[in-house]
Amino acid sequence: MSTYDITIIGSGPGGYVAAIRCAQLGMKTALIEKYDTLGGTCLNVGCIPSKALLDSSEHFHNATHNFAEHGIDVKGVKANIEQMINRKNAVVQQTTQGIKFLMDKNDIDVHHGLGSFIDKNTVKVLAADKSETTITTKNVLIATGSKPNFFPGMEPDKKRIITSTEALNMQEIPKTMVVIGGGVIGLELGSVFSRLGTKVEVVEFANKIIPAMDGTMSKELTRVLKKEGFKFHLQHKVQKVTNTGKSVKVVALNKKDEEVTLEADYCLVAVGRKPFTQGLGLENAGVKLNDKGQVEVNNNLQTNVSNIYAIGDVVRGAMLAHKAEEEGVFVAELLAGQKPHLDYNLIPGVVYTWPEVASVGKTEEELIAAGKEIKVGQFPIKALGRARASMDIAGTIKVIADKETDEVLGVHMIAPRAADLIMEAVVAMEYRASAEDIARICHPHPTYSEGVKEAALAATENRPLHI
Ligand code: FAD
Ligand code: NAD
Repeated sequence: MSTYDITIIGSGPGGYVAAIRCAQLGMKTALIEKYDTLGGTCLNVGCIPSKALLDSSEHFHNATHNFAEHGIDVKGVKANIEQMINRKNAVVQQTTQGIKFLMDKNDIDVHHGLGSFIDKNTVKVLAADKSETTITTKNVLIATGSKPNFFPGMEPDKKRIITSTEALNMQEIPKTMVVIGGGVIGLELGSVFSRLGTKVEVVEFANKIIPAMDGTMSKELTRVLKKEGFKFHLQHKVQKVTNTGKSVKVVALNKKDEEVTLEADYCLVAVGRKPFTQGLGLENAGVKLNDKGQVEVNNNLQTNVSNIYAIGDVVRGAMLAHKAEEEGVFVAELLAGQKPHLDYNLIPGVVYTWPEVASVGKTEEELIAAGKEIKVGQFPIKALGRARASMDIAGTIKVIADKETDEVLGVHMIAPRAADLIMEAVVAMEYRASAEDIARICHPHPTYSEGVKEAALAATENRPLHI
């Protein structure tokens, strides 16, 4: 029997980062993972493989749509899905092996098998070969993540009615695909296939895509994706999805309650994810769940059992890898007696379509609903010299500031490399910058970052320079 200061269940970005920080702070640390590879959803079937395929499909799209205008003549360009998936698998393998290396480097004991509570200080690990290890531990961190969600009538059969996991391993390029859910997964994976030539139709329950993001972003992304060939069915309620053998039939009700039937080679169900606690034996330790099935935690990410903490997708808040990581560091530092701080308002969100959409702080809709007096500055990407040079002219950058104090309250952008550009706004907001502060910083020319400066100028004094 081994005894640890902390035992972490789940090796996703929440769990493995927490393990590293705990070990750095001198704790004897165990990490339990039921799968053979470390890294959780993000590294194995989430962030990393999806970005690998997004990049491959983007290269293909550029070769078939943009190279000629750049003066590059290529003939007979073909998408080789088998090679794309092989490359993606190699990227995943390198990345997950990197986590194994980090665990070894930090003297973290990794136990492969299903972790479950015997009591609040004892955890059993059931390995694939049915052998059992018992661990005694001072503290436990639950980082068991999430699984794809679905609603009655759209149960994935993993053959033609698929989740993101199967979509990341397709053996063929479908001619047609219906995507249920116009959120992050639906639009990212929809983009992968659309760029490879699949006709993608999105069925979305809300009246706009990426409904939680700023409305201007949703509008511009809809325009861009429609141009690329996406078809959107908004305010549609899916009733039934049927695998007919060679295709799928999706029956939905439109806003007039009329039945609409769509047929496609595959149906990707992307209607959110649900917290995963199955097999954990939480009842043996007395840990409570809330009514959404999430592990209930207080502001210190502590459960109702004082030595048990929980982080990442399995608790409340955005289901994002970087949110899980920050929470992992928070718990480690708290246990080491430090006073960590985590500002949930400053966790950026990104949708890796092209152009990318990125956001931090409050949306215009949220601020208006809260009765805040605001100033909004916007700058179109097409007015940037850098954008014309690269032929990436779609998008806009929006800076929202407090009307009186000029403090930046939210920055939203749809722009080339917005995922990286947003960090200027995160840093500015971390230091409670005003829009004028951003506007007075010298930005290199020609770059997309000049759009942030211009939008800040538009917000602070309504005096953008280049429009
Ligand atoms: P997870 O990564 O889900 O890890 C949990 C781990 O716990 C798993 O490995 C699981 O096997 C293990 N586990 C569960 N129960 C047990 C048990 N009882 N015993 C042992 N092990 C157990 N987020 C981003 O920020 N950026 C992105 O670009 C992005 N892209 C995504 C793309 C897709 C297709 C998907 C599906 C998700 C994406 N996400 C992205 C979300 C991101 O993957 C999650 O927010 C993140 O992985 C959550 O981390 P976590 O550590 O909480 O849990
Ligand atoms: P999501 O919440 O982003 O989108 C789900 C969409 O489905 C929403 O637009 C919702 O209105 C719609 N919907 C819900 N029920 C529906 C129904 N019955 N019929 C039609 N539409 C319906 O969820 P997701 O795209 O499945 O992603 C899951 C999680 O993974 C997200 O929380 C996200 O944060 C994370 N993720 C992040 C990234 C990233 O950071 N780039 C990428 C992929 C996934």
